[in-house]
Amino acid sequence: MVYDPIMGPQAWPGGPHPAALARMQAEAQAARQAEIKAARDAMRASGTVCDLEYDNVGGTGPCGVPAAGRCIRCSRAFCQSHQSSRPLYTNLCQECQTQEVAQNRRAAEQRAATEQDRARREADEHAAKVARHETKAGWAEAKEKMARLDELIGKSYVQSPPSQGATAAALVLIVVGVVVGIVACASSPTGAGVALGILLLPMGWAAWTLAMSTRQSRREERIRERNKLERARGCGDMTCERCKYRQ
Ligand SMILES: [Zn+2]
Ligand SMILES: [Zn+2]
Ligand SMILES: [Zn+2]
Repeated sequence: MVYDPIMGPQAWPGGPHPAALARMQAEAQAARQAEIKAARDAMRASGTVCDLEYDNVGGTGPCGVPAAGRCIRCSRAFCQSHQSSRPLYTNLCQECQTQEVAQNRRAAEQRAATEQDRARREADEHAAKVARHETKAGWAEAKEKMARLDELIGKSYVQSPPSQGATAAALVLIVVGVVVGIVACASSPTGAGVALGILLLPMGWAAWTLAMSTRQSRREERIRERNKLERARGCGDMTCERCKYRQ
């Protein structure tokens, strides 16, 4: 036996070689074409003629040309001109295909209309729910409060809020600074002057840190309050896709 590097079973890992696959597909296609041609020739040889009616400027009447196949829907013989062509089915006549296309289109339109109805009904139901909830929860009033809070939140932005550790250190520093200041003042005016010089910078940092920390925590509190007020908006279901609540 001659080893065939393309068709050999071990030629390509995990299946036939791509070239072999292409060859097999081409062969299968050619065989199918031959089958179709044979059926068509047999149909012609039997002398069967097309059963469909022609309809053109010359008038209407039985087509009558040699048939190329028989329709599986209406059982009529059809010629090549009266064969389905969009796409080509070898066992379907043109009229049945046109009917099928129209039927499919109507079904798709029906489905789309049903879907549209459902969506509209859902939107209406949700709108009614929103109206009920917003009245009950006092959304009009909450909205005004929220606007005021939003303004304050916008104004109180802290670029890099101090960490918890920095805030604690600032608190300790303030306490130490006050104690040192009192002691220094009690000892002598010179001592007070020296203490002031040494403490000026760290105390300044501590005061600024505490101010920023307070500002940030008040801002966060306002944001929480604002988000809580926002629950009066919409339908009240926190997971609602339409209302999109901030968590
Ligand atoms: Zn038909
Ligand atoms: Zn015909
Ligand atoms: Zn909703």
